[in-house]
Order: sequence, then C-alpha cells, then structure tokens
Amino acid sequence: MGPAPSKRKQANTSITSSTSSNMSHGGSHQREFPNEFPDYDGSKVLDDDGKMPREFTEKLKSTIEVMLQKLDSGLETHTDWSDYSVYTGTTGIALLYFHLHDKFGEGDRYLEKALHYIDEPLNHLKRRKHTFLCGDAGPLALGAVIYHKLGKENDKQECLKRLFSRGQDVVEDRSLPDELLFGRVGYLFALNFVQHHLGSDCVDQDLLAKVFRKVLQSGEALVRQEGHCPCPLMYEWHDKKYLGAAHGLSGIMYILMQPTVDYLQELRFPSGNFPSSIGSPSGDKLIHWCHGAPGWIHMFILSYKVFSSEKYLKDARSCAEVIWKRGLLRKGYGICHGVAGNAYGFVALYNLTGEEKYLYRAVKFAEWCFDYGHHGCRIPDRPYSLFEGLAGTIYFLVDLLDPAKARFPAFDLST
Ligand SMILES: [Zn+2]
Repeated sequence: MGPAPSKRKQANTSITSSTSSNMSHGGSHQREFPNEFPDYDGSKVLDDDGKMPREFTEKLKSTIEVMLQKLDSGLETHTDWSDYSVYTGTTGIALLYFHLHDKFGEGDRYLEKALHYIDEPLNHLKRRKHTFLCGDAGPLALGAVIYHKLGKENDKQECLKRLFSRGQDVVEDRSLPDELLFGRVGYLFALNFVQHHLGSDCVDQDLLAKVFRKVLQSGEALVRQEGHCPCPLMYEWHDKKYLGAAHGLSGIMYILMQPTVDYLQELRFPSGNFPSSIGSPSGDKLIHWCHGAPGWIHMFILSYKVFSSEKYLKDARSCAEVIWKRGLLRKGYGICHGVAGNAYGFVALYNLTGEEKYLYRAVKFAEWCFDYGHHGCRIPDRPYSLFEGLAGTIYFLVDLLDPAKARFPAFDLST
C-alpha cells in the first residue's frame, strides 16, 4: 500500500507492515527505474485477426507456467493459514485459481485448487473485518461463487447467509471506516462481486441500498463536522483524509461514483499524478494503484463511461502518461504497488479507447515482469500473495492473454 499511516494504531494490520522500507528515500527519481522502452511508434500491436501476437502469447504462456510452478512450490512451505485475506492471504490465491479456471477451464481442476485455499479458512473466520480485500467478506463472497460453480448449492447458500448477516454491523458499527480495504465500500464490493457472478436476485437490494446510503451519510457528516470542505463528501481513515484507491476518496468513489470526481480532478499534479492524501507532505512521489495515478485512472475511466465527458478521458490519459514514465517501480512486480498493478491502468485505457498505444505499454510492462526478480527490486513481505507478490503478477499476465477481458482483481467488475 505504499505509505500507510505513520503511526499504526491497528494491531493486526499485517498489510501495512511492509510499507516503509523505502519511504525514507528522497525524490521520485529514486523510486523508479528509468523507462528505457521505446514509446509507441504507431505500428500495430495486434495481429490482423485482432488477436495478441503469437510470439508474445507463447512467451506469456511459458512465463505463466514457470511462475505457477514457482508459486506452487513457494506456497507449499510459505502458506500462512492464519491470513485468509484476498490481499495477502489464502483467499487471494483462491482468486487467482478462480481466474485461471475462468480463462483456461480444464474442468474443475482450478476450482478445486481455489477451494483448497478457502474451504478451511471459512470454518475459522475471525469476524473482525468485513471487507472483500482484507476481511471475512472475501472468502464468503468468493466461496459462494466457487461453490455455485461446483454445484454445491448448500455450501453456497451458507456462505451467502453468513455474508449478508454482516450487513447490519457494517451499517451500524460507528467505528467502521468507509474505505475499501477495511471499511464499508469494501463490504459493498463483496455484494457487488456476488451479484456480478450469481445475478442480482441473490443479493438483498435493500441491504445494498442501506450500506450505500450509510457511506454517503458518513461522507456528508464529515463535511458538516469540518464546517467547510471543498467537496460534498469526505472521508477519513486513521485521522487522515486519504484520497487513493485503497484507503481514500477515489477508491470509495470508484465503488459509489459521485460528482465528487470533479473535485478530485482538480487535485492533479502537473505530472498527471495525484496526491496520496490531502496536505500530503510527500508530494508527487507515488505511482502505485494504492496511492496514485494507477488507482485513480480506473475512476476516471468509469467517470468517462458514466458521464461521457471528455475531461475524464483526458485525465485518464494523463494518468497513463505518468504511469508510463514512472511506473516501473523498484517496489516490484505486484498488483498493489508494483508494475503489474500499474499495467492494469494501460489495459483499462486500451479497453476504453481501443488505442493500441496503451496495449503496447501494457505489453512492455508485462515484458518487464518476465524478468521477475532480476531488477534488484525489494522482495515483498508476502512474496507469493495476490496484492504484493507473485500471484498478482501471474494474475496480470494471464489477463494479458486476452486483454479485452482483463480486469483489475478484486476492484473492477465491469463487463
Ligand atoms: Zn500498495
């Protein structure tokens, strides 16, 4: 997640424990490698039949195969069964195998593998967090979908029942934040996920509306409390008005989508990047999904789809420029603050515009990932996990086999 709050108050946020190792470095020039790939020159990326070029596809497949073997053997000795989150734990691995099933089929092989990683955790949920990425809603929502696909109707219903039973807490617990990783929109995403895969009939629309309204009310309440605010909705996490996808307003808005986008848009740095929090002293430094342009780009793309306003497309493009220039992170190859997560910004913009320039850039970032571990990047604390480690890089490479259907995991459900 890049810079989490400097003073950690949350006892069990193992997720935030790996963040500060290169925070002490100074300017942005030390945070990334210079991007020495030639920029897009106008030549075609796709074959004449509109497919990814065979040579690149073969390289993708062979890399995926090697990485999957590495993941399998890594997980044999390094699976922390006490962490069942999507973000760093077993459910994230399950989501990768669910993705492999979706892309490659091969009977129920991948589904059974996915199930292996959530079956057991489902019996020991801690009831402490309710979100898809970091809480119980992840295994419950993904569990419901996997059981459904395997024809285990009773287990599916049980998961759904348990997922929905958290709704009241999510709405009523005043101590709950609203952000994506630990807060209400993280629960809302789980409902959206289930609805996306199982149809809207299976989710209580009243519950959905209640959670949605609560998030709006809470954003309005903070604005009232502050007296004056440049935006009709505002949120805090650990006493800070975060703006990025993981803890802040742009992540909440991606899930809720409000005119607030216009406010966020004005915060753009000249580079095309966006600040990590209001008044952030770190300035224009972070090109991560969690805290910068690679997360905001998805919000601008959705805004363009919803409002058809060119200004949002322009912002998405400028996000892509800064990701291209500064997105080959020394933090590594992961989804949350790594090259794979950054590349999803290009893929999303390619899918919106059809412009191969962006596909080209995604391909180049994938090629960077082919040399996983050879750039001298720091090794994440959870090196095999979906959001920090190898599982996420594989997830991205798998998606690049069919870029039109590539979606940022646990965040983007667009069809
Ligand atoms: Zn991150």
